[in-house]
Amino acid sequence: MEELDIKSLYERELEETMAAMGEKPFKGRQLFEWLHKKAVGSYGQMTNLSQKLRQQLEEKYPLACLEVVDVETSAIDGTQKYLFGLADGNVIESVLMRYHHGNSVCISSQVGCRMGCRFCASTIGGLIRNLTASEMLDQVYRIQELTGERVSNVVVMGTGEPLDNYDNLVRFVRILSDEKGQNISHRNITVSTCGIVPRIRQLADEGLGITLALSLHAPNDEKRRELMPIANRYSLEEVLPACQYYFEKTGRRITFEYSLVGGKNDGQEDARQLADLISGLNCHVNLIPVNPIKERDYVQSGKKVIGNFKNKLEKYRINVTIRREMGRDINGACGQLRRSYLDKREKLS
Ligand code: SAH
Repeated sequence: MEELDIKSLYERELEETMAAMGEKPFKGRQLFEWLHKKAVGSYGQMTNLSQKLRQQLEEKYPLACLEVVDVETSAIDGTQKYLFGLADGNVIESVLMRYHHGNSVCISSQVGCRMGCRFCASTIGGLIRNLTASEMLDQVYRIQELTGERVSNVVVMGTGEPLDNYDNLVRFVRILSDEKGQNISHRNITVSTCGIVPRIRQLADEGLGITLALSLHAPNDEKRRELMPIANRYSLEEVLPACQYYFEKTGRRITFEYSLVGGKNDGQEDARQLADLISGLNCHVNLIPVNPIKERDYVQSGKKVIGNFKNKLEKYRINVTIRREMGRDINGACGQLRRSYLDKREKLS
């Protein structure tokens, strides 16, 4: 029998599970509250459920929680990187960023990634597996528990392509925003994608008002293909209308992420083309100075080049910000902490 992942279930599914165990459905509601509002790590803490029921649950549906393998704290800005161990021995990473408007957690959606973006450390070992909804939720829950601080924003921008793990992602968003759980509002949840067009359209139709961030990284298909293999599958002529559709259905302004790679996509002509490309869209551009990883020889653009790129976009009246680099001193870029951990583990074995 396949084990039921109880922390990935909606409240009504827990009611059904309880009913199937001969319990009253309201026990399912209590269970949901323990799992997602109080977010406790064990059945032992669920004091309004009988000893007997807790024991039965323990036997039937063992609760797997993420284990902390490593935490690194930035001396510069207090950003924390967490390396979590999963029940099957895989590791993932999550980041806690402390802003004046509240705490934001960046979570992983997969173990590894198969999208192959050239500058990204997360994709180097390929995709190992999808994360379940509960493993995504637990990244938020455990960080709240460990810090004792509330998380108000969640961004799905860690390792993995969230739209390549679509069903679990949607489940994750619905449970995270459930008013009987953490009640994190849709507008405080951002999902970042490399641009899987049919899934963007599907997400637009889910009735979730979450923010969509699209990893653009280039002003035309030719340059985009050099950096992102997914661009061979979907051209900008398909990606941008999907973003427009997302905006129309949700009313949420699109964020375009643009990682500036020295000498590759950071010229004045790139900026002009980019402005041209997105000028009709209700959007915002987030410039990310590329975080060099040791496996590739991409370099960061100079400060002046970055400033000029931003100015050019502004001249065309594009909303643009330069992403503040958080935790530079602690393996800042996507997937670097996990990567260096795996490298070390490999050397030891
Ligand atoms: N798969 C999702 C989430 C990935 S990570 C996506 O593609 O959007 C979030 C963002 O960080 C993406 O825009 C990704 O392209 C970018 N990114 C990854 N590695 C980076 C690096 N080394 N430097 C700068 N940006 C990077």
